[in-house]
Amino acid sequence: MLDKLITTHDLSDAELLRFFSEPQEEAPLFAAADAVRREYYGDEVYMRGLIEFTNICKNDCYYCGIRRSNSHAVRYRLTDAEILACCDEGYDLGYRTFVLQGGEDGFFTDDKICAIVSAIKAAHPDCAVTLSIGEKSRESYQAYYDAGARRYLLRHETADPVHYRKLHPAEMSLENRKRCLFDLKAIGYQVGSGFMIGSPYQTPETLLSDIRFLQALCPAMIGVGPYITHRETPFAEMPPGELHFSLRIVALLRLMFPKALIPATTAFASLHAEGRELALRAGANVVMPNLSPVTVRKHYDLYENKVCLGDEAAHCRGCMERRIASAGYRAVVAVGDSLV
Ligand code: SAH
Repeated sequence: MLDKLITTHDLSDAELLRFFSEPQEEAPLFAAADAVRREYYGDEVYMRGLIEFTNICKNDCYYCGIRRSNSHAVRYRLTDAEILACCDEGYDLGYRTFVLQGGEDGFFTDDKICAIVSAIKAAHPDCAVTLSIGEKSRESYQAYYDAGARRYLLRHETADPVHYRKLHPAEMSLENRKRCLFDLKAIGYQVGSGFMIGSPYQTPETLLSDIRFLQALCPAMIGVGPYITHRETPFAEMPPGELHFSLRIVALLRLMFPKALIPATTAFASLHAEGRELALRAGANVVMPNLSPVTVRKHYDLYENKVCLGDEAAHCRGCMERRIASAGYRAVVAVGDSLV
């Protein structure tokens, strides 16, 4: 199976189902993933500055700690000036990509988002702006693009309609999520999608649909990370995703999508002290250190035990660079477009 993955970058449905249900030997799998990433991206690991600018959300996803029904969440939104100050600080630290992520917060109308994107582009024309603000109309996505945004992160979460229903309330739909992703691509965005590993009710069959969906979408970035339980959600009793299974999925994704950017996500770091390094060695090639003001960090509480809550941006940058080096790679702050 590994030989076929290395030579064809694909597997049959039956092989993928076997991959998801039987533990694979890790050393050869990770070595193959590492060889592919070095072939396409060398030893570079791209750093993106993440700004979590609002945790107010109209959605009620059953897995997420900032869902609207969590009345214990302490809600915040950054002002335009605060968001710009985060970018300025990030710029001085060398970052050339800013990722603005938030809940689906109606306060941030399209006009407000466009004004923020334009202001960042005006202050830092050599930087890429990534948005991750959920499901919008095609017109809204077009307006953000026209304002200067070029990348958009929107995980599909699961490509199986029955599984999607188990993770989200009735007012959300997989069809709309997919519509958003294809609209974003059609407009010309570099699109990131992905899913949680070990989310409640996930099966080998739902993972197979995730892979086939990603092959149809051809995203520039594939973001995955272990599901981590949050006690103030309906899934409070559900176990988190398993570290080693999650790492094997990263390696599989690297082998199947050699040109994709694959982040070593905060969820990996939150599940294991060296989770990021392990994900990098399994094929990931992006990290997204936090640039949000330390005062709000702990409130962007998607899941429990989220790491890096108390670290100043400058500290994060140094820490991340050391971790990347210790995993055997080189931190790069350049814009870093994907090869897809
Ligand atoms: N509102 C934006 C940002 C969502 S938060 C959007 O809809 O895209 C970013 C990602 O965090 C989500 O896409 C989800 O995959 C992940 N996430 C949410 N809750 C999580 C949990 N409990 N464990 C692990 N990852 C989670």
